[in-house]
Amino acid sequence: MAEATCDIGLIGLAVMGQNLVLNMNDHGYTVAVFNRTTSKVDEFLRDEAKGTKVVGTHSMEELCASLKLPRRVMLMVKAGEVVDQTIEQVLPHLAKGDILIDGGNSLFTDTNRRTKAVAEKGILFVGTGVSGGEEGARFGPSIMPGGNPAAWPHVKEIFQAIAAKVQDGTPCCDWVGEDGAGHYVKMVHNGIEYGDIQLICEAYQLLKDGLGLSADEFHDVFAEWNKGELDSYLIEISAAIFAKKDDDGKPMVDKILDTAGQKGTGKWTAISALDLGMPVTLIGESVFARCLSALKEERVAASKVLEGPKKVLTISEKKEFIEDVRRALYCSKMVSYAQGYMLLRAVEKEQKWNLNMGGIALMWRGGCIIRSVFLGDIKAAFEKDPKLQNLLMDKFFSSVLNKYQWSWRKAIIHAIEIGVPMPAFSTALAFYDGYRTERLPANLLQAQRDFFGAHTYERVDKPRGEFFHTNWTGRG
Ligand code: NAP
Repeated sequence: MAEATCDIGLIGLAVMGQNLVLNMNDHGYTVAVFNRTTSKVDEFLRDEAKGTKVVGTHSMEELCASLKLPRRVMLMVKAGEVVDQTIEQVLPHLAKGDILIDGGNSLFTDTNRRTKAVAEKGILFVGTGVSGGEEGARFGPSIMPGGNPAAWPHVKEIFQAIAAKVQDGTPCCDWVGEDGAGHYVKMVHNGIEYGDIQLICEAYQLLKDGLGLSADEFHDVFAEWNKGELDSYLIEISAAIFAKKDDDGKPMVDKILDTAGQKGTGKWTAISALDLGMPVTLIGESVFARCLSALKEERVAASKVLEGPKKVLTISEKKEFIEDVRRALYCSKMVSYAQGYMLLRAVEKEQKWNLNMGGIALMWRGGCIIRSVFLGDIKAAFEKDPKLQNLLMDKFFSSVLNKYQWSWRKAIIHAIEIGVPMPAFSTALAFYDGYRTERLPANLLQAQRDFFGAHTYERVDKPRGEFFHTNWTGRG
């Protein structure tokens, strides 16, 4: 039996778990590890963790016995039921005051439930988002912890040590809030990631079909974009993707089948937006765009039957159009983040959490897939006004939107003319136009609801909260 000398225990030695362990080891922590298939423990110690201080264990009991008090145990297992099963198995080996951390992509409502359930046994639960994939886990992820606030002092040092750092050394990790707040914020992060990716893909298709850019030209365009307002990890890796050639010297990107996969966090974000009545349209469209892409056979058949415009773009100023698309992408991205933050505001109210909006932008500035220079502008907006209702109302955002909106409209008009689908760009603009419209046609909608279902309506000339019904047909 190992001595109680280890700083933290980690269960789940798949790609994320292994890399987090090595990261913790690099920062001077002694990590005890366990995995259901125990041969993976031995393989890990023999290969990846060779020469480190990592301690292998072959049972939950041995793992927990090797930990200093209060024990800190982190789960990096498959999300869903496996987390509940693993908690059941580890709980008998923990004592009051110990800390149990779930670092997987758990649904926030599960984390709400688990935080309460283990608190009854005196165990402090942390549900934390860990972003940045394999590379992030190894060299500095964005870490978004929530759960039982009493646990934070026990995990703060280690989490902030292994997290990514922004330029001034600030760690991309801070306490997010109670219960499932950390997992909720990670979920919204993933939803925004879906949106960012979809926007980039739409810009790519418009420039490919509209201007016939080659992969090499795309590489140059994206590399250029990455030097300015769109400076971000996803633009950077897109530039690298366009430069990659297959064995035959042809662009790798052209060899890849156009059907997208998804693991569910984008869908969860869209579902939560519907539950909370928040118009998070861009993430919703991004999830649906992946669904549509998956219908490959149907699309192939439809492409032979359903006609589109025959028009081709006659754009003499190629450079100018590329700039229009860049600006359109930037504006759409602003709308997407504004919508994501609207969702965070709504859930904060519903769950009675106290979310630090600027702090969340800071956590996303490094280590994660959506990291970008732009998140610094979001942080600045919330620093200026912590109660900011909507990002679009911040002066920095509104002035960019006012300045770039013609490019945005032009890009979408051209896409419509040549039949290129732009669901995310279009929904962003529709949201922008809807959000800035003082009087929407919902007056007619309310009249219809009152007509067929006596659902009543409020009047423009009466105080809010007074409801009226009209006998529309004159029948009794
Ligand atoms: P994963 O493939 O999601 O899960 C594999 C781990 O779960 C293995 O340790 C496996 O043990 C264990 N496991 C699976 N079924 C089990 C069961 N019935 N009972 C006990 N253990 C079981 O691993 P991952 O990709 O490293 O991800 C870990 C967590 O981080 C997930 O929640 C994931 O969503 C999240 N995440 C992943 C990424 C990423 O880029 N991969 C990024 C951020 C967050 P065995 O070896 O015994 O099968």
